[in-house]
Formats: sequence, structure tokens, C-alpha cells
Amino acid sequence: MLYRYDFSNCREQRVEFPEIMLKGVNISQVFGGLLCRNEILQLLFLLSGAKQAIRIVIRQKDLLYVRTLLLELNLSVERSDFFAVSRAVRGHYYTYKKADVSKDNKELVFLYVSKRAKVSLELKKSEAEEDSFKFGKLLGYPSCCIKKYLKTKINQIGDFIMISSAKSKIQTYPFLNNVALGIFGIRVISHFPCSLNCRNSLKIGKQYARVLEEIDYNYFKFLKEELKSLVVVFRSGSLIYSKKFIKEGKNIEIKELQGDGQDPLYIKMSKRKSFCLNDLIKDNSHVNNVDYRVFVFSEIY
Ligand SMILES: [Zn+2]
Repeated sequence: MLYRYDFSNCREQRVEFPEIMLKGVNISQVFGGLLCRNEILQLLFLLSGAKQAIRIVIRQKDLLYVRTLLLELNLSVERSDFFAVSRAVRGHYYTYKKADVSKDNKELVFLYVSKRAKVSLELKKSEAEEDSFKFGKLLGYPSCCIKKYLKTKINQIGDFIMISSAKSKIQTYPFLNNVALGIFGIRVISHFPCSLNCRNSLKIGKQYARVLEEIDYNYFKFLKEELKSLVVVFRSGSLIYSKKFIKEGKNIEIKELQGDGQDPLYIKMSKRKSFCLNDLIKDNSHVNNVDYRVFVFSEIY
């Protein structure tokens, strides 16, 4: 199944994803690959009642098709009155902003979707009026995380990760709060937690995990295996992770590397069968002022 990689916030990588199934139906295929994996997941959470509203981004030319499908699912749909553009940050991370229509950016629109017409309309209005607190609450984000966002204005994963931990410390966090792999379309929660230890985000993550476990156990198992990993993020933009690593004190041996198929550091290091974390850092030291963070995500609650 081909996904909408060209304008979603997912980067290409070499992990083979299973399809997301709802009662034996390949739901991504139903939507013709027009939604990214994270949006399909959110749609499942919406249908199950775990979320009250979601926002998705689509091309204007696909509006009728996607809207009809959502209406068939008994959902209420509103579209943004403005257009959006996908903006690359440092060439690695993507975020959306309102388009400058004078530049003929009339391709992407947001859809606000809920089971209740009042809620989808409120979501649309809160974004148009830039009421971020209300917007976040309608999407089910915890207040602590929205407040942190309003304070820092950080809206992309790389920057969030860099401020989330001290450089020299390698801490362990719950895998359900692992949003670092969101750039590959691998995540359970869809917001940036105020910290990787945020209890409220974990609570939501557990709720979503229970829903997904029931709807598509195979996909949940896949997400869990990927998210329980060692993640190394470089200020330069590289993000590399491994599910197979051995941690002995400060020494970390990496046995299998995952990352962006276009990233030179990943291409170089993934050829090795195993190496130490320090080798990985050294091999990226040609980048000026190498700045990085290391995180371990595991099954802690
Ligand atoms: Zn929080």
C-alpha cells in the first residue's frame, strides 16, 4: 500500500509496516492511501470513542472522495477556510502553516472530523481563531502539554527532543510516550508531551494502546516493538534508532540500526553488524559542534 509520503510528515525508512486492519478491512486502502498512518490510527481512535475529534490534511482535489468516505462512517466533517502548506524545517522535519494564497498555494486543506457536528465546527473555529488551548483540548491533549507548547512554541519533533533531556544523561522513558519516531509514522500519541515522562500523556497512550490492541493486535505489536528502542537524535537533524542494543552502564552496543534511508550517517553505520554508541557519535563529528541526545524507551509505567 502506497501512503501519502510526499506531503505527510513521515520520512521514508526501511522498516516494513504491516497494514492497519479494521474488522478484516484494510482501512488505508479504503482511503486510497490518501491519509498517512498516523491519521489512520487517529481515525480508529475517533471511531472507537477514545478521541472526540481529529484533524487531517488532504489535497483539495481529494476532498470530495475523502469527505464522502468519512460521511459514510457517520462522521461530521468541516474543512478549513484557509489553505495550508507543508514546510520543511532544516530539511528534515515537516510542519504545516497557513499558506500564502497569493503564491498560488491552493493545494492542501485541513479537515476537522468528529462524531458530533458541534465538535468538528468548534475545532475548525478554534484553529481559525488561533485558540491553541481550546484546539488542543478538543483533540484530547493534556492541559500540561498544551501549556508547555504555548510557552515554548515548539511544534516539531527535533527541537522538542533537544530540550527534553540533558546531553550527558541517558534516561529511560515509557515507550508509549516515544514521539521521536513520529517522523517515520511510528507513534501512538499524536501530541508532543510536556516531558517524555508526562503522566497525563502516558494515561492517554495507555487508553489508545488498549483500543489498538483490540482492533488490530498485529499493528499494535509492531508499534510496541519499534517504540521500545534506543533513540539518538543529533541537532544536525539525523535521527537514528535501534531495537537491538545492549546497555551495560555507560557502554551501549548497537546491533541493528534503523533510520532514514536518505541519511548518510544511517547509510554508513547500518552497514556494520554491531558498534558502540561512541562510534556512532564519532562518525557524526564532522558536523560542527556535534550536539546529540540519547533516549531509551522501554516498558515502564
Ligand atoms: Zn503533559
